[in-house]
Amino acid sequence: IHTYDVAAIRKDFPILNREVKGHPLVYFDNAATSQKPQSVIDALVHYYSFNNANVHRGIHSLAEEATADFEATRDAVKDFINAASREEIIYTRGTTEGINLVAYTWARQNLKQGDEVIISGMEHHSNIVPWQIICEQNNAKLKVIPVNDKGELLMDEYSALLNDRTKLVAVNHVSNAMGTVNPVKEIIQLAHDKGAVVLIDGAQSAMHLDIDVQDLDCDFFAFSSHKLLGPTGMGILYGKKDLLNAMPVFAGGGEMIKEVTFEKTTYNELPYKFEAGTPNIADAIALKPAIDYINKVGKDNIRKHEDLLLNHATERLRAIDGLQIIGNNDHKVSVLSFVISGVHPQDVGILLDNKGIAVRTGHHCAEPLMNRFCVPGTIRASFALYNTIEEVDKLAEGLIKAVKILR
Ligand code: PMP
Repeated sequence: IHTYDVAAIRKDFPILNREVKGHPLVYFDNAATSQKPQSVIDALVHYYSFNNANVHRGIHSLAEEATADFEATRDAVKDFINAASREEIIYTRGTTEGINLVAYTWARQNLKQGDEVIISGMEHHSNIVPWQIICEQNNAKLKVIPVNDKGELLMDEYSALLNDRTKLVAVNHVSNAMGTVNPVKEIIQLAHDKGAVVLIDGAQSAMHLDIDVQDLDCDFFAFSSHKLLGPTGMGILYGKKDLLNAMPVFAGGGEMIKEVTFEKTTYNELPYKFEAGTPNIADAIALKPAIDYINKVGKDNIRKHEDLLLNHATERLRAIDGLQIIGNNDHKVSVLSFVISGVHPQDVGILLDNKGIAVRTGHHCAEPLMNRFCVPGTIRASFALYNTIEEVDKLAEGLIKAVKILR
């Protein structure tokens, strides 16, 4: 029996009590950012009310307390993704900064003229643009794994793209625009066979799938706190220790140094080598209660619940005349992306908002994928642990009404 207590979970998320345009909020924009439980909000308030101090530098009590809490998150993250050591957990501002960090350090140093970088046709702009920039600077080539009509990667084409010049493969674990779960373990294995390094964009997977970076054997794994119940402005870059040690530094400044003279500066050890300046202390501290919350509910339970919502939504929406699901395959998590013939996604979004239903419309920062499907954008409903079947029904009814009005 399914004993998931969604009513109890909803009580932990204060924003779910609010109304939008006279209707109870139905929040289906979770792939953009998740809502936050009270424990995360409390951690932010607690830090600024009781512990506010800069980290790592002070010997006074406040600084020691802040540092202990700040570093406790690193251990929680290490366990959350099963990294081998805490030195492999680098704090960033988010997925975007994590990917840029690898582009501007590892790739800048290792990509030579004629070398190749492989990404996929379903990447978020943040896993496209940094590679374009660095490939242009280093005279390297960017290649793209094509996507089939069901929104899956063409693995044979991927194998054919790999060769001795492939130095880096960067793909998302889960597509934010379709919810497709990519076979990253196989992708990594094939890349390693050619001696290439692999970065996984885990922005959309960290909340929904069990992450084991050692089992995946990825070289880098980037994700954002704000998509897994934590605050914005905080993210994680995991990297294998040997790679991180060999990499040049990213931003220069305080924290990341060992000794500075005008003649020569030596750098701090991992992970601080990559953490220049005063970090997002409060946001880092408040990521821990977010992880604790996910662990308490259990990722398996979250996944099961979200699958129920996704299956129910898929069934109900398929019955709508002219509705086409973009990324219609059966290895997906949490995301339902679709277009409806004869109506513009944005108009649908506005009518749904009038009923208090928040969905995302547009290209979802994946313009090449939209071009692949010849659509200007989609309507995207993305589900989280606190959503309900009743909310999915409201979405379906809202869509039926919207189509009637707009056609
Ligand atoms: N990659 C994917 C797959 C995403 O969904 C997102 C966020 N929409 C990002 C990268 C970028 O994450 P952030 O904006 O938090 O840096």
